[in-house]
Amino acid sequence: MTGRTHDLAAITALGIVVLSQPPRIVTLATASLAVLANLIGGITPDIDQPTAPLWRNLPVGKYVGRLFDSLTGGHRFLTHSLLGMALFGLLAHLLLIFLQPIMGSVDSGLVWWAFMIGLLSHLVMDTFTKEGVPWLLPLPIKLGIPPIKSLRITTGHLLENLVVFPGLIMIDIWLYLTHYQQLLNIVQRHII
Ligand SMILES: [Zn+2]
Repeated sequence: MTGRTHDLAAITALGIVVLSQPPRIVTLATASLAVLANLIGGITPDIDQPTAPLWRNLPVGKYVGRLFDSLTGGHRFLTHSLLGMALFGLLAHLLLIFLQPIMGSVDSGLVWWAFMIGLLSHLVMDTFTKEGVPWLLPLPIKLGIPPIKSLRITTGHLLENLVVFPGLIMIDIWLYLTHYQQLLNIVQRHII
């Protein structure tokens, strides 16, 4: 899947979790950072690709991207597995502990969860693509839905652009319309 589809999927997943488990009172800083962390989580597994948007936009990103590509075992390997998710989770946890002194009222636990939801959504979305996802590394099996490879999505092609991306937007619009009062309540009473 492309970066924009992953980010849309990440924010959709976060929306579903927030609506089903409304947060207790959170500060605006926590809510904003959680959304940012969620979007970053949504594209993080693709740092194993030298052509990832993150690397493309950095001055020496091409070289760093290549380094990450070989360090993580190539595209769709370590960063696209439960093991990789656990490692990213640990790194994010350590980073948040390090940054806590300058983050004031931010609830770093919620920011961490938002990041992890983004990560998980990435792996779920990639499971629908032709390449599949090696969820169970070190078991070298790439899993995909549906099991027949030819029925899965090709990244960046018509099915993703004309069905998956608009489909995610439709889900977001449906969530917004059917949970409007609940959303309003969260924004008005739970964010300070
Ligand atoms: Zn990916």
